[in-house]
Order: sequence, then structure tokens, then C-alpha cells
Amino acid sequence: MSLEFRQARYPRHLLMEEHAEERDVKDNPLPDNIARKEAPRIPDVPEYEVARHFTRLSQMNYGVDTGFYPLGSCTMKYNPKFTEMLGKESKATELHPYQPEEGIQGSLQIMYELQKMLAEIGGMAQVTLQPAAGAQGEMTGLMIVHQYHMNNGNERNEVILPDTSHGTNPASAAMLGYKTVEIPSKDGCVDLKALEQAVGEKTAAFMLTNPNTLGLFEEDVKEVADIVHEAGGLLYYDGANLNAIMGKTNPGAMNFDIMHFNLHKTFSTPHGGGGPGAGPVGVTEELRSYLPVPIVEKNHDKYYFDHSLENSIGRVKGFYGNWLVLLKTYAYIKFKGKDGLTEAAERAVLNSNYLRKLLEEHLELPYKSLRKHEFVLSGKKLKDKGLRTMDLAKRLLDHGYHAPTIYFPLIVDEALMIEPTETERKETLDGFAEAFINILNEDPEIVKNAPHNTTVRRVDETKAAKKPILSYSMREK
Ligand SMILES: *Cc1c(COP(=O)(O)O)cnc(C)c1O
Repeated sequence: MSLEFRQARYPRHLLMEEHAEERDVKDNPLPDNIARKEAPRIPDVPEYEVARHFTRLSQMNYGVDTGFYPLGSCTMKYNPKFTEMLGKESKATELHPYQPEEGIQGSLQIMYELQKMLAEIGGMAQVTLQPAAGAQGEMTGLMIVHQYHMNNGNERNEVILPDTSHGTNPASAAMLGYKTVEIPSKDGCVDLKALEQAVGEKTAAFMLTNPNTLGLFEEDVKEVADIVHEAGGLLYYDGANLNAIMGKTNPGAMNFDIMHFNLHKTFSTPHGGGGPGAGPVGVTEELRSYLPVPIVEKNHDKYYFDHSLENSIGRVKGFYGNWLVLLKTYAYIKFKGKDGLTEAAERAVLNSNYLRKLLEEHLELPYKSLRKHEFVLSGKKLKDKGLRTMDLAKRLLDHGYHAPTIYFPLIVDEALMIEPTETERKETLDGFAEAFINILNEDPEIVKNAPHNTTVRRVDETKAAKKPILSYSMREK
């Protein structure tokens, strides 16, 4: 970068601290109370040092591009670089939110076709692309539940959930004012008797993910649906685990009424650190008119936003939703095709069971044995050595692996939730298992104080959550 170029973009007095006093504070149009009293401290450094700095920072991070990432429930699969390029450099990034429909026919076509593809994958009649994440999909779905019961003159104020459910499920229900009723599991799956006892006139919906968070397929799902429907409730499918079943079966076939997709999980998109994501919601024909508006429709050859849904709950997200995530999903599905998606599900299940076999005799595996795309071990036995699951997870970092999800689901003591995804090769799974088993044979003191080789050692997570430091100052020590 030449100096001229740099000066052209940044006034020199903003770049160099020693010239700070040249900045004329009096000319500043901002009110005194919010204007800076001193110039910001911005170091004057050559380009190569900036490059080194950011490259070094990027190397301190761990992601799917650096290694195996078996974070259960999150489906941290490989993100093809061509879809990343689409989301970064294609013309689609220049779309303006207020562009007239005639000018965005191509983008509308992609949204329309994506709605159709997702509807087919989920076995649903219609899909909205608006929600920005799975959790917002849950909220959208439960707003539909609420509106539906209101229209039918029913005052139903309870949402039932199994004790294996993901935290966002009860949180979404509570946010909408529902009372949440948790039912215990039996052998890791929904206990039909407990469900029968829990349902009634107050039941608005039952929320379930299948396979569930233990990686177990809920084989009685149709009986579950019958029990909920007979009580007048609706059945909501949390789609976070769709990766295990896509192309094989679908929530529609299991008699679910509403579902969300976690596009960033099932159809890839890097989603560390909380974003970006998309959580489209699908519904049966009976609930179609309740979806948020607009949905994308087609009339002859013209695509348009349809605002005419009669019972719509209204808009839940501005403009086109998380458009670039939608675009990446569209490209990913087109690239994979039906066979490719089915194969991804098969391989995800195969990888999970292969890894389970390698590990199950070294730690405890609660519940029945055959798993779908993920499995949950219990680190209970570690306590004999004065260790906890957390210690094992931290030590994995030293061995070059991202830790699995720990302490979820809540019904497993010292849980370790491992999801290898379809992406990984046998060699990677073998390497992970070897590191895992080695750690179990290491000196507990080493494990207890791990990680030793990472940039940041073990952090005080309680303190970090309670007293987060959200800004960085060079002056602070
Ligand atoms: C990730 C996840 C969610 C929430 O989805 P977000 O897209 O992160 O909001 C809900 N349920 C399960 C089982 C999940 O794994």
C-alpha cells in the first residue's frame, strides 16, 4: 500500500498519534459531550506488520478450516469454498433491500426454488425463509401455534417438551408466554405414558427433535403425534438434527405440523460465534395461511412477494431474511442433489457409529446403542481420578482437536456430545479416538490443568459470563 493511497483514504492526523493535536476539535460538528477530547491512539505500522498481526490472530483461532470440530448438535461440517465465494463476492451481495421486484427476478427465483426444495426435504406444504436462526424459527412456529388456536377459539397455554430438549425450545415457548411442561424420557426417548398424562385441553404444542439430542431416533414418533393431535395440540419439529435423516425420511412423514430448518447446520455455512444463520419454517397445508408475509410466489414467469396470506402472523425479519445464507444453501443443495444429501445423512450416521464404537468401551455410553448422527458419552467414571468432562475437553485442545459439546443434554451426567458429521475421513476419526483414549491414560494432573499448548489457557468461564469485558483498551492491563 503506497503512502499516497493511505493518505487519500485516511487523513494523516487520524493515523499518526504525534499529529493528534493538529486535529481541530473546534470544527467538530458533534456536541461537546459526545465528541472525543483526545485523538484516538492508532499505531503507525507498516503493512507487513499488520498482515503478520492478523495472520497470527487467525492462527490462534480454531475452526473447521483448521481441524476436526465434533461439536455435538452444532453440525460443524465442511463449508465448500465455492459457496463461501458466492456469499462474499457474487453480484448477490449488492442487492438493495428496496430494489423493485422487476430488478431482482433472479434472486426471487432462487428464494422461490429454495422454498420449494426445503418444503420437499421437510415434507411440508410451504416454507418461509424469513427467520434468522433456529431459535427464531421456533418463535415463528410458536406464534403460528398461538394464532391457530386463537382462530379456533381455544385458550391453550402449555407447551410440552421432553427433558432432552435443547434450551432454545423452552426459552422460545417461555418468551411467547407459554407455560412449559417438561416430561421425563424413558430409555432416552419420549415416554408415551408420561406424554399421555401431560397432554390435555391446555396443550398448545409438543416440541421434539428427531433424532433427539442423544442421537437416538424416536421410533414411536407417530404414536407421539397421535397423542398430541388427539388432545388438540400441534406437533413442532426442531430441525437441528435433520442432517441425520435428510433424503431418508422427513418431519412431514412423521406427522409434524410445523418445523424449522437450521440452514447453517444441515446445509453448511460457517456459524461459529453465534452467526450468521437462517432458520426457515415449514408448515402443513392447513397452516399455510399463518406463515409470515411475504412469501415468494410465481405467476407465469414472474416472481413476486405475496403479502396475501389470510391468517399471517406478520413479518418476523426484514427484507429478504439472511439472504446470503439462503444463497449458500441453495447452491449447496443444487450441488449435492437428492442423492448427495441422502449420502451425507448416511455418512454422518456411519461416522457417528464408527466413532462411538471406538470410544464406548473407554467411557460410559448411556441408553440403547445404535445412534444417528451423534452420540452422548458420560464422563462419570472420570470422577474416580478427580477429573471432570471439562478437563478432558480442555485437554483435547492440546492434542489439536476442538472439544465436543459438554454438559448437554442435561439428563446425562458429565455429558460429552460428539458429532463427527459426514465430512470427516476415517483417518481423522481414528486420530481423534487415539488422542481421546491417550488422554484417559494420562497423568490426571496434566489433564486437570489443560490446556497447556493453546494461546489462551483455561479461562474462568463463570467470571467471563458474569463480568464480560466487551471492549479492548491498549491502556488497560
Ligand atoms: C442449534 C440448535 C437449536 C437452535 O438453533 P440456532 O440456529 O442456534 O438458533 C435448537 N435445537 C437444537 C437441537 C440445536 O442443536
